[in-house]
Amino acid sequence: MQRHNFSAGPCILPKSVMEQAAAAVLDFNDSGLSLIEISHRSPDFVSVIEEARSLALELLGLENQGYQALFLQGGASTGFLMTAFNLLQNKAGYLNTGTWSSKAIKEAKLFGKVEELASSKNANFNYIPKGYAVPKGLDFVHLTSNNTIFGTQLFEFPETDCPLVCDMSSDIFSRELDFSQFDLIYAGAQKNMGPAGTTLVVVKEEILGQVSRTIPSMMDFQVHIAKDSMFNTPSVFAVYTSMLTLRWLKDLGGIKAIAPINDKKAELLYNEIDRNPLFTGFAKTDDRSKMNATFNLVDASGKERFDQLWQKAGINGLAGHRSVGGYRASMYNALPIDSVQVLVDVIQSFEKDY
Ligand code: PMP
Repeated sequence: MQRHNFSAGPCILPKSVMEQAAAAVLDFNDSGLSLIEISHRSPDFVSVIEEARSLALELLGLENQGYQALFLQGGASTGFLMTAFNLLQNKAGYLNTGTWSSKAIKEAKLFGKVEELASSKNANFNYIPKGYAVPKGLDFVHLTSNNTIFGTQLFEFPETDCPLVCDMSSDIFSRELDFSQFDLIYAGAQKNMGPAGTTLVVVKEEILGQVSRTIPSMMDFQVHIAKDSMFNTPSVFAVYTSMLTLRWLKDLGGIKAIAPINDKKAELLYNEIDRNPLFTGFAKTDDRSKMNATFNLVDASGKERFDQLWQKAGINGLAGHRSVGGYRASMYNALPIDSVQVLVDVIQSFEKDY
């Protein structure tokens, strides 16, 4: 049965990437050896991580502008910690738009003062706060560009007189932005990039080295930069697979080519949710995420029937996160529009039978 994978992460990756990654586990570059049994310092692997680092900067349009790309471990959750370790001297501003922002705030409080610039907690994070003031003189401002759980996304970014930090775990490489407005971007690989196990960090070098504390080596961005992202053994399989996905995206035409496809997928699904009287969207219309659509049945008594229908259609990963309930359709870069059409067809056939 053909599967349609709407999983929120780990999630669908391009089929061609998975085929190449699987082949490299058996025989890497016709060496007779597996990707996962050779030294990470072998020239073949060094060229993989170098290509991954340079493709990341190229696709974001950040080459030759003082940025470094790193492939680290510990997930975006370690990014919460490393951000504060490396940048928080006195006080930082955080926009609280969901579970992941809240977790980032919790970690930052271990290192200094945190000012919550605004929060949408009062409405279970179903919108993005707007019009909040950003005080001058903060060490940095931290945002979460896409709220994977609640299905909201930032479409406007504040002007700041300090470094701007963004957790882009669930929408990196999905839409065109001026990425040079950010000084630090981090993203767990397991949505638009690769398998779980590595985190992409893109950082403007000039913002580092300003805090007075001693930073443990593994937490120190400057240490990882000095060692070309090989301070310790990188997660070779995750880095290799991420590199293949970045190559796939470049061959497709880059973010410029994938962004309109992502727009079409989101439009197809949201139009149906808005048209269909049996369904309702969770997030405020203007703030709806193009990556994660959260919605629910108006009448919960239809749940069993609807669940049967989508499962029978080969759809995977549609159950909503426990803090929102209902359904969540994650439509990352590798999800074909045909899969979204299958979901729309299921929603319509549920309506017909109702
Ligand atoms: N930030 C966002 C926006 C996420 O979606 C996630 C995980 N889904 C995280 C942070 C945490 O990432 P990790 O599990 O890699 O630590």
